[in-house]
Amino acid sequence: MNPFVYAALPIRVVFGRGKVSEAAAEAKRLGITRPLVITTSHQADSGNNIVKATGGVGFAGAAMHTPTDVTDKAIAVFNAERCDGTIALGGGSSTGLGKAIAFRTDCPQLVIPTSYAGSEMTNILGETADGAKVTKRDAKIQPEAVIYDPDLLGTLPAQFAATSGMNAIAHAVEGLYAVDGNPIVSLMAEEGIRALATALPKGKPGQDEALYGAWLCGAVLGSVSMALHHKLCHVLGGTFNMPHSETHTVILPHATAYNAVGADDAMARIARALGSKSAAGGLFDLAQRLGAPLSLKVLGMTEDQLDKAAEIAVANPYPNPRPLDRAAIRILLDNAFNGRRPA
Ligand code: NAD
Repeated sequence: MNPFVYAALPIRVVFGRGKVSEAAAEAKRLGITRPLVITTSHQADSGNNIVKATGGVGFAGAAMHTPTDVTDKAIAVFNAERCDGTIALGGGSSTGLGKAIAFRTDCPQLVIPTSYAGSEMTNILGETADGAKVTKRDAKIQPEAVIYDPDLLGTLPAQFAATSGMNAIAHAVEGLYAVDGNPIVSLMAEEGIRALATALPKGKPGQDEALYGAWLCGAVLGSVSMALHHKLCHVLGGTFNMPHSETHTVILPHATAYNAVGADDAMARIARALGSKSAAGGLFDLAQRLGAPLSLKVLGMTEDQLDKAAEIAVANPYPNPRPLDRAAIRILLDNAFNGRRPA
């Protein structure tokens, strides 16, 4: 067995249908007496229920990729209302704003996820200012407590459930070949992929198991380093403004095929978790079965952007099972652009 380091995540997790009703008690447990309750405008009504239950203050302005001007507005409300903690309810955008406030104020955070993005389990924050996305890691960014309540997924549109679930699987895929991987993280990753691959095709009846899988995949993301797949998605999102979970869904089979060389054990575990012959083919087939988008072309990317994307992806080297090769990554992007099933 290879030597490894394992650091457990210091997060309290409460899981179960109806558990959102424990938000006030969980906030109190963290010493929060007046929370800023964060949602997107789309989920303002759900946020208002938490405001009523906790005696907090609502802020329904969270936006994708955590723009710093939105954070400034939220901090102004946080200070004016003498808030002493945050409750973020929603997907990665709401969680991101809660993290941005906690990074600046060191306040405690409770997160109530309503998508499968997994941000609640990490100490990572990606913020955008002047069109550029900057990622930072800090202990203050890590939420202290999370309530996973599958009832809140009832309003999740089917297409977003599919791409958000594939986004979660991507964390586990890269966790299985992470340079700093370890046996516990690999167990969580394989079980996370299995749970999501089993549950997502079931739609609403599978939401409990899918949320459980998303938790595990988020924990993987929070524990070990990601590689080529996440780098490519970061480039496509940050530089070409491609949508987050959809881009993860399209790129994942192709990044996995690229890394099939040099990650034998990971590929075998991914295929086993998917119940498929090959890891990359199985991921493509799952996305197709879920009716998710399969090509960058469908997402609005243009062919003339692929050269620049390949260039940026290799500009700053990072650990990856297969060495980064610009020409091979350009082929990967061409396959993803055209939505070809990986061989
Ligand atoms: P999102 O949070 O932007 O949600 C998309 C839309 O769906 C929003 O309008 C949201 O209000 C709505 N929505 C969410 N859950 C819903 C539900 N149950 N019912 C109805 N509507 C619902 O999208 P996302 O994919 O969850 O998150 C993407 C963002 O999270 C990106 O900015 C990404 O960079 C970030 N992210 C960060 C990390 C990290 O560790 N830092 C990890 C994953 C994602």
